[in-house]
Amino acid sequence: MPGTAPDRIPETTDSLPAARAGDKPGRAGKAAAKGAAAGKPSSAMARLHKLGLKRDVDLVLHLPMRYEDETTLLPIADAIGRAGMGLTVQVEGVVASNEVSLRPRRQMVVKIADDTGELTLRFLNFYGSQAQLMAEGACLRVRGELRGGFFGAEMVHPTVRAVTPGEALKAIGGALARTPLPETLPLPVLQGPLGQLKLQALPECLRLLHSPPQEVDEHALIERSHPAWQRIKLDELLAQQLSLKRSQAARRDKSAPPMPRREGGLLSAFLAALPFKLTGAQQRVVEEIAKDMGAPHPMHRLLQGDVGSGKTIVAALAACQAIDAGYQAALMAPTEILAEQHFRKLSAWLEPLGVPVVWLAGSLKTRAKREAAAKVESGEAKLAIGTHALIQDSVKFARLGLSVVDEQHRFGVAQRLALRGKADPDAAAAQGKTGKIAETVPHQLMMSATPIPRTLAMTYYADLDVSVIDELPPGRTPVVTRLVNDARRDEVIERVHHAAADGRQVYWVCPLIEESEALQLQTAVETYETLVAALPELKVGLVHGRLPPAEKAAVMEDFTANRLQVLVATTVIEVGVDVPNASLMVIEHAERFGLAQLHQLRGRVGRGSAESVCLLMYQAPLSPTGRERLATMRETTDGFEIARRDLQIRGPGEFLGARQSGEAMLRFADLNTDAWLVDYAQEAAELMLLRFPEAVEAHLLRWLGGREHYLKA
Ligand code: ADP
Ligand code: MG
Repeated sequence: MPGTAPDRIPETTDSLPAARAGDKPGRAGKAAAKGAAAGKPSSAMARLHKLGLKRDVDLVLHLPMRYEDETTLLPIADAIGRAGMGLTVQVEGVVASNEVSLRPRRQMVVKIADDTGELTLRFLNFYGSQAQLMAEGACLRVRGELRGGFFGAEMVHPTVRAVTPGEALKAIGGALARTPLPETLPLPVLQGPLGQLKLQALPECLRLLHSPPQEVDEHALIERSHPAWQRIKLDELLAQQLSLKRSQAARRDKSAPPMPRREGGLLSAFLAALPFKLTGAQQRVVEEIAKDMGAPHPMHRLLQGDVGSGKTIVAALAACQAIDAGYQAALMAPTEILAEQHFRKLSAWLEPLGVPVVWLAGSLKTRAKREAAAKVESGEAKLAIGTHALIQDSVKFARLGLSVVDEQHRFGVAQRLALRGKADPDAAAAQGKTGKIAETVPHQLMMSATPIPRTLAMTYYADLDVSVIDELPPGRTPVVTRLVNDARRDEVIERVHHAAADGRQVYWVCPLIEESEALQLQTAVETYETLVAALPELKVGLVHGRLPPAEKAAVMEDFTANRLQVLVATTVIEVGVDVPNASLMVIEHAERFGLAQLHQLRGRVGRGSAESVCLLMYQAPLSPTGRERLATMRETTDGFEIARRDLQIRGPGEFLGARQSGEAMLRFADLNTDAWLVDYAQEAAELMLLRFPEAVEAHLLRWLGGREHYLKA
């Protein structure tokens, strides 16, 4: 960008690195508010620091997320000249005053000024953070419709963003000039396998993206299809692939206790006692897992299977194999209800075969917890089942050989690593004595009902071996899904009545109220009371997150034993709960739930042989995404298809959950549109690891800095 002023102003100043074009405005807005709260112009570097831009190379890789035409930025006087024309205009100015008045109603009036004039901004609803953002002296870029007000032209509720004129651009320009950025990609990667690719050098691409010359196709910049963007995206995806492949290799260097399958032990006895035959898919994944566990390297396998496909039994079989080999197994679940259900089921299966199973959850009394932990530590307990309580420091395993994490997407990376970290200390020490320094870790099996679309599997999960149960146990009939307007509640209650008269059980899921747990609770209690009154001849139960664990467990047990016909519940029943006699699922305000959640909830029915129905009650009018989600639910019960559409609607960040993806989030590449780049990055990574190890180092250092460990869980 030597000398010439850019024709477009790329907006990097206050957007987070992870924010992408098309994001909800809220996120970028919040970041902007924070930036402004940090305040004084002299803190610009501090602010960049806060965004994680510590090294020059971070700064130059902090690319514009949006491009705006400078011509849309009008001097205030010009903008005012167009007031009342119904045009949306954009101006920039410094806050001259900011007053909150209470009459005629509470409002905030902000005056901004530039060299040409002054403009009033009026806010009728506002938060403290907005007031802060628009403090006197702040430089704002505002966008909205100008109206002729009583005291002159004004904008009511414009979009506001704090800007620091020029500063970040200058910092980035300086960094670009200082940072040498030698090529990290070997020639074959730059040119493509057939020499057809001819990727441009990184510094050129960065310069172009930071200050695009006028003749550049603006559309390609915005859509990120410009070759300069492609180079950046490839670099990023390549860093991800290299890192994943390296951690895979590192894992192979670690050792794990080999526990080959043994005939005539617990596993055989358990299989013989099973009341049903494993499905073909279950048999196949059991074989895959058994083979991994027989190897002296840690298994790192994801077991994927739609809700109701029978993953629990597979986990139980793996646990048997570990126990047969003289090791302990641990099973961790994300909620107490689910963990408890696993505990009941598995101890009912295994204790008759002489296997001591312990239960560890946060709600246990201190003494009971200590006793359970003591059994785990002495090795008396062969199988430990529980929640996060399992990974507390006070819990030490005598000989942990297998850790199973159910509904793994509900756990954070750190939590999964923690369970894996509870390796067998003796074995590690013994190996230390024999001069082998390899770290010993248990085999790890992760389970999830959330299917992973292909591009995600190749990126975030490339480090996992995946087993898929693609078949439901026989005799299931698909759940029929209906959308019902909230106004027809009486008919829904009538359906509940019928189902119960047929000897079936019913879940009634209360609306999700994200803003207030108290309000959610209140709604649940009200729904419960309404149903009790409307269905006097039925037994209705209520379960929610605030219930003491013992009561929660008691209600669930009553429902499982069919002593309750209707269970009113908040989303605490979302994952895993298994009551095959339940055949009707009512979800209130279904439009408030995400697709994955709806799919999980619906998966609570259709587990027995009776035809099951899911009624999605909604309140009109529906938002476009609400409508899209509900339509998806009605159209398909295929978890894979639902996940694919979910990915489309939400993007991978939210799909995976922030905790899951950690800082490993892709900033530039878009898995929906850049699938071919993912493919290419995968091939290129293999080539580089094989033939260009130095390039691998340089590339990872540039792109990931010290953040690599997030990719390893
Ligand atoms: P999920 O995969 O959702 O965790 P579960 O393990 O809870 O599914 O299994 C769902 C239900 O199917 C349970 O009641 C379980 O006992 C039953 N089940 C599992 N495998 C089979 C099978 N091969 N034949 C019949 N029923 C099975
Ligand atoms: Mg399950």
